[in-house]
Amino acid sequence: MSSSSYNPYEMAKEQFDAVADLLELDEGTRELLRAPLREYHFSIPVRMDDGSYRVFRGFRCQHNDARGPGKGGIRFHPQETVDTVRALSMWMTWKCAVVDIPLGGSKGGVICDPHNLSPREQELICRGWVRQIAQDISPLRDVPAPDVMTNAQHMLWMLDEFEAIHGNKYPGVITGKPVGKGGSLGRTEATGYGVMYTVREALKERGIKPETTTASFQGFGNVAQYAMELYESMGGKTIAVSSWDQGDQTSYTFKKESGCNLKELRGITDRFGGVDKTKAKELGYEVLPGEAWLVQDVDILIPAALENQINAATAEKISSKVKLISEGANGPTTPEADKILQKKGIHVIPDFLANAGGVTCSYFEQVQNNMNYYWTREEVLSKLDQKMTTAYYEVSKLAQRKKLFMRDAAYVIAINRVVEACKARGWV
Ligand code: NAD
Repeated sequence: MSSSSYNPYEMAKEQFDAVADLLELDEGTRELLRAPLREYHFSIPVRMDDGSYRVFRGFRCQHNDARGPGKGGIRFHPQETVDTVRALSMWMTWKCAVVDIPLGGSKGGVICDPHNLSPREQELICRGWVRQIAQDISPLRDVPAPDVMTNAQHMLWMLDEFEAIHGNKYPGVITGKPVGKGGSLGRTEATGYGVMYTVREALKERGIKPETTTASFQGFGNVAQYAMELYESMGGKTIAVSSWDQGDQTSYTFKKESGCNLKELRGITDRFGGVDKTKAKELGYEVLPGEAWLVQDVDILIPAALENQINAATAEKISSKVKLISEGANGPTTPEADKILQKKGIHVIPDFLANAGGVTCSYFEQVQNNMNYYWTREEVLSKLDQKMTTAYYEVSKLAQRKKLFMRDAAYVIAINRVVEACKARGWV
């Protein structure tokens, strides 16, 4: 888990400051972009199944909307903090800009643990969250989506509450809805596939065939499972995956040297992405400590769980065989770790580029909602591939041309686009 001293917002600002120096941004612009434009903090009272009342804390941070309506997920997490939401809203601004979609950056969250909440209690949290913010989100203002421990059902409850309050149909107010109820085909796999499109291109640039490579994943949830699905279909071999064990309150790594089998692992995984360790042992997996995913002798590492996983303490332990890290999770690598990865010569595809497939497909979902006409899965995924591949090469070429670390190159492109929009509007 994240250490208690780790603050993602401080890290997001540190990353921004470094690029602001590089771009020689003026003070006013820096001040505007270092903090969210707007923040909402509120209480969500819920009558629990046993008749008692509990009050949950909810947030929405709207970092910047100069390029279009805010966009960003809602997390349900017991350790959620407003600083995490602030950081994530900022990363959303850069993410939408780096893949060049006309949206800004937002993020939301509720401090709660869905593991210990009934579906009814979760529904009341979703509806309560929307009631608190119904005047400040809209298809033209700020559009939420699923994130850690929230899913299509949560989004549909939120949509329903929003439409009940406003009295009209607004399918574009929220994305990640179920297919057939305003959702887009391809959205479920979009983030994981997007991560793997970037890996595919990075391997191509290096003249490496995917079928000769191995990978290790942290997390076995939405992002990791679909990234692994595409990786398997490209011929790659996954050696290890790690996941959180709710019963033991710790993480484990599941390793099979001959290659993990996605279908088999999915069959023993709960809806939160937790792998059953007893069944994994029966299927011949080694069950190792949670951190073991990071020290495997593989070509590719995919952190796809939490922030602050590759830090000053863990980065040195990464095998010299690792050539590539594609960040499925948001903020998995700290600035200190970045320096170590640079020294090790590892090609890092930064989070806000690598995992931008989700928001890109959310954007496609909105476009389809606006037209009230829906594309086929193939159409969605081919448009997604095109967007991700274009963005990857823009960043990679700038990194090569200016001899920049990939994260800095991605920031330069994204921040420049946002600054340009703010300046064109006359904000700074
Ligand atoms: P998820 O809830 O579906 O899965 C999370 C996975 O991480 C689970 O397998 C869980 O067991 C595992 N995990 C949790 N704590 C762990 C730990 N300490 N060690 C090892 N594994 C642990 O979430 P997701 O949607 O796959 O998101 C994963 C990451 O990707 C998050 O950082 C999220 O913000 C980011 N992300 C998700 C999307 C998306 O579309 N889902 C888009 C962009 C970024």
